[in-house]
This record gives sequence, structure tokens and C-alpha cells, in this order.
Amino acid sequence: GSAEILQQLREKLSPRGDVVSPRGRALTEEVFGGPLTPVEVVQRICADVERDGDRALLRYSEQLDKAALAAEDLRVPAEELAQAHHDADPELLKSIRRIRDNVAEFQQAILHHDVTIEPKPGVKLTQRYVPLRRVGVCVPGGAAAYPSTVLMTVVPAQTAGVAQIAVVAPPTAFGAYNRDVLATCHELGVTEVYRMGGAQAVAALAFGTDSVPAVDKIVGPGNLFVALAKKHVYGTVDIDSFAGPSEVIVIADQTARPDFVAADLLAQAEHSPGSAILITWDPALIESVAAELADQVAQLERSELTLDSLEAFGALILVRDQDHACELTDSFAPEHLHIQTANPRDLMAKIRNSGAAFLGHHTPVALGDYAAGPSHVLPTGGTCNWAAGLCSNSFLRSGSVTEFNQQAMNDIAPDVERLAEKEGLTAHARSVSLRRSPSPPRP
Ligand code: NAD
Repeated sequence: GSAEILQQLREKLSPRGDVVSPRGRALTEEVFGGPLTPVEVVQRICADVERDGDRALLRYSEQLDKAALAAEDLRVPAEELAQAHHDADPELLKSIRRIRDNVAEFQQAILHHDVTIEPKPGVKLTQRYVPLRRVGVCVPGGAAAYPSTVLMTVVPAQTAGVAQIAVVAPPTAFGAYNRDVLATCHELGVTEVYRMGGAQAVAALAFGTDSVPAVDKIVGPGNLFVALAKKHVYGTVDIDSFAGPSEVIVIADQTARPDFVAADLLAQAEHSPGSAILITWDPALIESVAAELADQVAQLERSELTLDSLEAFGALILVRDQDHACELTDSFAPEHLHIQTANPRDLMAKIRNSGAAFLGHHTPVALGDYAAGPSHVLPTGGTCNWAAGLCSNSFLRSGSVTEFNQQAMNDIAPDVERLAEKEGLTAHARSVSLRRSPSPPRP
């Protein structure tokens, strides 16, 4: 039954379960001297950084990332950014510029603009949008380097007009010591890059320290600790969404190529952890995809990690028919949805909940991960029934502007006075009746 499958699927959702690897658990024991849950770890780290600032931040960098830094090492010097850019592969820089243009074009096209209406003479109502002043961007760097995440966060923020963008990446070879990550920052004009990662970086951005000025909003993906830390500091700052370990549902039929489908599942599992789920009503496809998975996984650079992730968070699911596949996918609300069937648009019309959808046999999720235009920073953990992916509009805040003239105020005044009096808020009523012209008779 659907409910049963759904329950099993939910257990495959990495951020909801205890996804900390045995190595991660050992690290927690070593640093905290006991088996704390990830939530407890994050609470402890955030409280320490809020109280002790740089001192706690540097201590956690040393303990969790094995990086012995001084406060002055936290910010990457301008010369180092420029040097990384100077040394970068020119072809990589060309790709980065082309991708920046793709992302900027889409993000500009979807940007909200102020809306003003005049519903009656003398009444002007505006919804206006202003860019956030200062944002923090998390770029992961534990298991892989992500110059693509720099593009997919910074370009939407720049499109929205954010003045100050602070990028943080862990002090690791995959993070803020990664030359391609630094070169990408420089190419995009980012000058503020910090060597800090995990929950301690999120806390530093939220509360501010001597070396890291606080931001208004923290965006970007990360592992479980980063995702939980963002949730923890929400309210002190805004956050984008719960963008934790990645997941994909592929819906496929007999028109799909098993080697394509297997490659797409592996591309998600490769994040390690990453959930990779196939839903089909074709039993033969399950068999052929399973064979392809076994074959292809052995050829990957990160073969072992990918296999671990596939075993823990992978599933091949046989359903009754198309409607059953859509119903299950909609309830699961996946971060990525890839429909590889004869009629992908028809199926898409039946599914409300997915972070980003990819249609057809020639639209692998990797196109969206790297280059298409929509951001790859998306809600995970089955939260796409209410959360949305990052985009240029995530960096705007809206506010309203209301303006009435005398006559228009006179017209609406009786309704305001009536409601205010019902609520017992006579000062409210009076602030309106005082302004009426001619003045209403005093009760
Ligand atoms: P990361 O930078 O998010 O996390 C590394 C940091 O986690 C370390 O610096 C360390 O401080 C902290 N950490 C690790 N183990 C810890 C422990 N036991 N206790 C406390 N802190 C600990 O990098 P990552 O690990 O490579 O994770 C990146 C994740 O981001 C992947 O799962 C990937 O799937 C995901 N991702 C998601 C999206 C999206 O849009 N949803 C996009 C790109 C990547």
C-alpha cells in the first residue's frame, strides 16, 4: 500500500534519519565526550559561538575540521582570491562566465517588481521589494568541492541587488582552500570569503563575531549539521530552507533507457549521503536498472562512497500505474524529480510537490545542478510540500506602502471605526474619526 511505501521512503530521506556516518559519530564522541544527537551537537556549537565568538569558532574548526587557524586566518585575503583566479584553468573560467549568464538571465526574468494599484480614487496601495543588505552563503566542503554552489547562490543574490555577500566554506581542501571555489568567487566579484564550515560557521554568521560581521539571512546547502544549525538560528536571521543532503525521484516507463536512469540515480547517491529512488510500473525496468547500477557504480571515481549511499538511501519501487507513481511522488515531495516517460508533461501536471522537476530523456538533473538557470539550492527531506528553492526573490523582502487622501479616508472610516470599537480599541477608532471631514457627530 502507498502509506507503507511512503513510510519506508521517509526512512530513506537522509536528513530525517540518523545519517551521521560511523566516522561522524566517532568525531562527535571525540569532541563532545559522549554520544550526543546531531540536534544536541548543533545546540551546543551555536550556544558556544554566540557566547564566545571567534574563540569558540576557532576551537570547533580545530576539533571538527582539524584546521588550526588564528582569527586573522578566517578571512581569505584578496591577493589569494586573485591568485587562485589567475592560476585557474581558462576553460573553467569560460564555463563559469557562461553559466553565470544563464543563471542571471533566468533569475532576472523571475525577479519580483513593485506592484501599485489604485483600487479607488485617492487610494494608492503598493507592494514593494527591497534587496537584503547583507547575506551569508554556505558552500559545502566536507565531501566534495562545489564551485557550482557559489554560482547557484551568489548569482541570484547579485541579481536581486544584495550589497554584501559573505561566502563561508569549511577550512578544508574541498572548501575554502579549494582553488576553483576561490577562483569562482573572484570571477563573480565576491570579496568576502571565510574559512569556516559546519554549524559553527552558521552560528558565526547569525550572531556575528569579532572577525565575522552578522548577516540578515543565511542561505545555501550543507550536511545535516549545517541544515540543523540554520534551523536553530532562524529568528535571529532568516534562512532559505532546509537544504540538506540531496534526493531524487526518477519516474520512468518502458521508453526510458536503463543506463540513463541508473546514471541519474548514481549522480544523486554520489553526494553521499544522497537518496536515489526509482518509481516505475514496468517490472522489466527494475531488473535492467539494477543490473546497470551494479555495473556503473564500479566505474565511478567515488565508487565506494556512492555504493554506501545507495545501499542506505536508495530504492527501486514497483507501483501499479502512472497515477500511483504520481500520488506517491507528490506525497514524498522530493527535492529533485526527473520524469523519463513517453508523456512527461502529462505526469508533471498531476504532481504538485517537487523542488525542481526535469522532464524528458534528455534533461538529466545534472543540467540543473550545474548550468541551466534555476538554482540548485533546493529544499530536501520531503519539505517540498511547503518550502521552495532558492532564487533571486529569496534575497528580497517585501513591504507594503499605503496612501489615502481625505475623501478616500472618509469613505472607508465607518468600517474601520466599527471594527475597532468591536475590538475595544477606541484609540484606533479615534485616530480615524478625528481626521474625518466634516467631523462626524460626537457620540
Ligand atoms: P558541509 O560543508 O556541509 O559540512 C562539513 C562540515 O560539517 C565540517 O566542516 C564540520 O564542521 C561539520 N561536521 C562534520 N561532521 C561533524 C560532526 N560529527 N559533528 C559536528 N560537525 C560536523 O559538507 P559536506 O559534508 O560535503 O555536505 C554537503 C551536503 O550538501 C551533501 O550532503 C550534499 O548532498 C548537499 N548538497 C545539497 C544541495 C541542495 O541544494 N540541497 C546542493 C549541494 C550539496
